[in-house]
Amino acid sequence: MSYVITPAPIPAVPVAGSMDTFPVRRIYCVGRNYAAHAREMGSDPDREPPFFFCKPADAVIPVAQGGTADIAYPPQTANYHHEVELVVAIGKRGRNVAIDAANDHVWGYAVGFDMTRRDLQFALRDKGRPWELGKAFDQSAPVAPIVPVSRSGHPTSGRIWLKVNDTLKQEGDLGDLIWSVPETIVHLSKYFELFPGDLIFTGTPEGVGPVVKGDRVSGGIDGLGELSIRIV
Ligand code: MN
Repeated sequence: MSYVITPAPIPAVPVAGSMDTFPVRRIYCVGRNYAAHAREMGSDPDREPPFFFCKPADAVIPVAQGGTADIAYPPQTANYHHEVELVVAIGKRGRNVAIDAANDHVWGYAVGFDMTRRDLQFALRDKGRPWELGKAFDQSAPVAPIVPVSRSGHPTSGRIWLKVNDTLKQEGDLGDLIWSVPETIVHLSKYFELFPGDLIFTGTPEGVGPVVKGDRVSGGIDGLGELSIRIV
């Protein structure tokens, strides 16, 4: 037997300090997970359990450390937004993961951008429709090299920031996550069996906003390096 068409390549993200890559199976994303960002999106952060949406694995854009990836301004939007996020790379299969075991499922951490067509997301949200057109489009998930847990540990605090053309737009601390990484893994693994290769975007701090062609967007997290893209 052979494939009747050429299979798509396996999306992968570089591993920091290595020639190796981390193959991506699925991309899960947490909705509002910092209180100040939940408020700027018009919701009450204290009363909502975490919710999730997905991006296709091939939305990932691997960006080398110190490099800048060109990302095309996406079609069908006039309000294309940046969201800087801590990305969790899953290295161990699991379902109904217990809180005390959750960190054992993490292979590493990275900086990622959950790029968003905000106008479409809000229009879909307001009609009670799925978010794919606003969130799951091509090139919507640039990710910096993944730092293995052996080097990063399990960060529970640390500055997370994003600049557009050297102007600081987003700034927060991992300690302000409403749902911690272990709690997020517990919740997500109730609904999906997690597998090695899954990425979890854990939500963005306040200060999201639009980018336009020509903008350079850079972001970072203490201990995990930086991510840089240019909108073309
Ligand atoms: Mn997000």
